[in-house]
Formats: sequence, C-alpha cells, structure tokens
Amino acid sequence: MNPVCRVCGEATHSFGEALLLAKHRVHYFECDVCGYVQTEDPYWLEEAYQNPVNLTDTGLLGRNVMLSRMTLLLLRRYFKKGDFVLDYSGGYGVLTRLLRDAGAECYWHDPYTPNVFARGFEMHRAARSFSLVTSFESFEHFVHPLEEIRKISQISSEIFFSTRLLPPHRPQPGQWWYYGLEHGQHIGFFTPASLAHIAKELGLHVVSAFGAYHFLSRRKIHPLSFAVTLAFSRTPFVSLFHPGPSLTVRDSEFLSRI
Ligand SMILES: [Zn+2]
Repeated sequence: MNPVCRVCGEATHSFGEALLLAKHRVHYFECDVCGYVQTEDPYWLEEAYQNPVNLTDTGLLGRNVMLSRMTLLLLRRYFKKGDFVLDYSGGYGVLTRLLRDAGAECYWHDPYTPNVFARGFEMHRAARSFSLVTSFESFEHFVHPLEEIRKISQISSEIFFSTRLLPPHRPQPGQWWYYGLEHGQHIGFFTPASLAHIAKELGLHVVSAFGAYHFLSRRKIHPLSFAVTLAFSRTPFVSLFHPGPSLTVRDSEFLSRI
C-alpha cells in the first residue's frame, strides 16, 4: 500500500524510482492532493548523514553570502532594528557569523552539525526571544515536515526559508539535480499547494519567490514586495541595509572572556 502524504496526510500515488547513494533502489510517491513528492520511508539516512554537510555541496559558501544579504534585506523591510534572529539548521554557523558581521543579532541552532563559526552564539545564549527564524536548505531533509515546521513556528511565527519547489513539469527522480541521488539527504519536495497547506495548519500566510525562497508569516505579504526585497541582494547597495554596526570585534572580545 502507498504511504500517506507526510505533509497533508492524504493518499499518494506512485511517482517513480531511483538509485540513491548508488545502491538503494528507492520509490517516490506524489500526493494526490497537495502534490508533495516524497521518498518511501527513508531507511538510509544514517548512511546519508555520515557527513552531515554533503561533500558535493560546493555552493555552500557562495550561497551563505547570498542568503545573508537576503536576510538582511528582509530584516530591514519587515522587522525592527535590534530584532533577534535564529538560524535553525544553521550548519557550521557560516550564516550566523555573516549576519553578525553585518550587525544582526543572529544565533545558531543545529543538533546534527558541529558549530564551527558561531561558537558562543548558540540558541540558548540569546537574551531575548527571536523575531525571525531562518532555515535554509533544511525542509527537503525533514522526515516529518509538518511536525518539524510546527516546532520551528513555536520559536517564531516568522520563518524565512529556502527549498526548491518541484518544477511544474514534475521531473522524474534522476531528471532534476535537486533530488540529490548522490547524497540521499533530500527526501521531500514541496509544491505551492503543500506550502499553502502547512501555512493553513499553522494559521500563517506563505509567500514565495524565485521558486526557492519562502516566508511564513502572520502578515499577508504581497509576492511582488517579497520578490523585489530579495532581488536587491544582487545589487551593490546591499551594505546600505545593514541593521547596525558590525558585531565582529565586539563578539571577539566577548568570546575571549568566556
Ligand atoms: Zn499532500
């Protein structure tokens, strides 16, 4: 029997199959209602996460620079000066460090990856509650997406995240790089309808841009406003939008005392 959809709980139909980690023949299922595409129950994850940050991810640093710019623009557009940010699934802490360098009060959380660059700024050290949670390239890893996202929404209702939406032509496993067959860590692929279902369950709104960036929020944000805000990240003016003076030196002094 086919599994139920891990996002909305409705029935699924068979979608395709592929060879993961060059050895596991894995079945994919598509939800009849929200269109979310998921792998069968992912029994290979322990093997897939032997290195939590996948080795083929050469875009890690470049992506973090871009994401830090987008987050700074979002902070400037929709939040107050001095608001705290949590980078959930923050990996090695690259984004947390970049945001702090630009003056944002950002903290790190990740139960699976060692904190290399944001030591001293773990979630529990924040003196205030978080106004924004960022979580990039993590939703497609979640085994129980709705539960995980609900957990994040309890930290803050404002969640800026990235995950690539399934292209409208619905490529088969193996015909789209984002299936990540070589590392086996991507196990669920969202559609606008599956994100809308999550937003509704949480009593929030969701807005998406460029097929990959999404903002869950209490506010109803116009898609064009969101897209234009993010598009500024590609301009040289982005440094004008830093929330405050850099925390690089202050953080170093703080770290030398703990
Ligand atoms: Zn569904």
